[in-house]
Amino acid sequence: MSKPLDSHIERVLWNEDQISDRVTELASQITADFSGTASPILVGVATGAYLFLADLTRRIPLPITVDIVRSQSYGSGTVSNGRPTISLDLKVDVRGKHVILVEDIVDTGSTAACLIEYLESKGASSVSMCALLDKPARRKVHFEVFGDGKFYRGFECPDSFVVGYGMDFDERYRNLPYVGVLKPEYYM
Ligand code: 5GP
Ligand code: MG
Ligand code: MG
Repeated sequence: MSKPLDSHIERVLWNEDQISDRVTELASQITADFSGTASPILVGVATGAYLFLADLTRRIPLPITVDIVRSQSYGSGTVSNGRPTISLDLKVDVRGKHVILVEDIVDTGSTAACLIEYLESKGASSVSMCALLDKPARRKVHFEVFGDGKFYRGFECPDSFVVGYGMDFDERYRNLPYVGVLKPEYYM
């Protein structure tokens, strides 16, 4: 019989309330920044951003559009292979629109660089990044938001592999309502 999920976690970095409060703050910043302009398209990066996208978009009281892309670079391990590919494309046309990429975490930066460049090539008028977590210690690829875009960050993440609130290890732990670090024995 499998143990309850909480027992797999070594330590919790951000609990449900802390995440909720920070998501509300990010949504307020985005709402303020886009109140006077054409409403943005929020593009979640599957699968990791699904909970963050759901919580963030529900707190933005503007006529926004929501879409999803899927990008893959990880396989089943904990280290990026550094060559992200887009494996599920956008449904909406971003030409002439403000786009906000919604990511669970920016780590090496290679996914962010790839997706920002892609949206720029599709004619977006600006590309912002909104990441729940930023792990600057692991950055390998420098990227810049495009046009008048901004980089919205929830929390700065220490240099450990984290799971929960959408983030997986080998497609599990996404349903944890908090973000934490796995016990080493569960990485096997
Ligand atoms: P990149 O290295 O391209 O910046 O990160 C690509 C993706 O890898 C992130 O969007 C995220 O889905 C995943 N990733 C990066 N760091 C972590 C981590 O600590 N935990 C988990 N579960 N996924 C991560
Ligand atoms: Mg992601
Ligand atoms: Mg993953």
